[in-house]
Amino acid sequence: MRFDAISVIPSVFESYVDASILGRAKARGIFEFHAHDLRTWTHDRHRTVDDAPFGGGQGMLMKPEPIFEAVEAVSAMAEQKPHVIFFSPCGKPFSQRDAERLSNCDRILFVCGRYEGMDERVYTLADEVISLGDYVLTGGELAAMTVTDAVVRLLPGALGDAQSPVDESFAGSLLEYEQYTRPATYRDMDVPEILLSGDHGAIDCWRRENAIKRTALMRPDLLEGADLTPREEAIARDAIDGHEHGEEGC
Ligand code: SAH
Repeated sequence: MRFDAISVIPSVFESYVDASILGRAKARGIFEFHAHDLRTWTHDRHRTVDDAPFGGGQGMLMKPEPIFEAVEAVSAMAEQKPHVIFFSPCGKPFSQRDAERLSNCDRILFVCGRYEGMDERVYTLADEVISLGDYVLTGGELAAMTVTDAVVRLLPGALGDAQSPVDESFAGSLLEYEQYTRPATYRDMDVPEILLSGDHGAIDCWRRENAIKRTALMRPDLLEGADLTPREEAIARDAIDGHEHGEEGC
């Protein structure tokens, strides 16, 4: 898969995409990441990419011309037409479903904003506009890294253990169950005994219930999309009401 990013600070991506799991996946050719300096597509001595907003107001906006030229030029750098993503707090909130959908693209082109945002006309170039959440960042570069990271780890071969993307948070609309490693007791805190039992049926059952309880307490909104049995729905309700549920099996 090929990613391109257009930015006024194109040097910020390299250390992240070249480290750890992403770095290994990139070295193995699972994905390519190409950063491009937006100023390449300016034509004045100062390489200007911003201007004052019509109608007045604070700050500077990104001008349309360099962005149109950059998107056209970068799109033409490879044979496949890219899926073009812009970032804005006004975009659609990014989720694991989007990461799964985007992991089927051959090529993604990110356009990272800075300053007070962009001239509205540039969004005619966008296949989609993504928001990371209800807060304001200084630029779209972290958003581009977030989407790249979430998408790359879903590409076949990117993670060592092929099982891991199946079980984790959001995979079935539930948050992931609690996990523990050694030591079994640390500062008077014990690991739940069942996890030490070696009884894999009982452990799977505990994990499913734990995921349901956790989701009910932390993110009850996610339960709507979860496929729960009547008994599991009761576990969720009891968790919300503060009742402990017995360990009577799945
Ligand atoms: N004035 C704009 C914010 C501009 S922030 C507004 O109020 O909507 C500058 C750039 O940072 C944006 O163009 C976008 O690319 C990026 N950015 C800021 N917050 C973001 C968020 N929550 N999600 C995705 N991108 C964001």
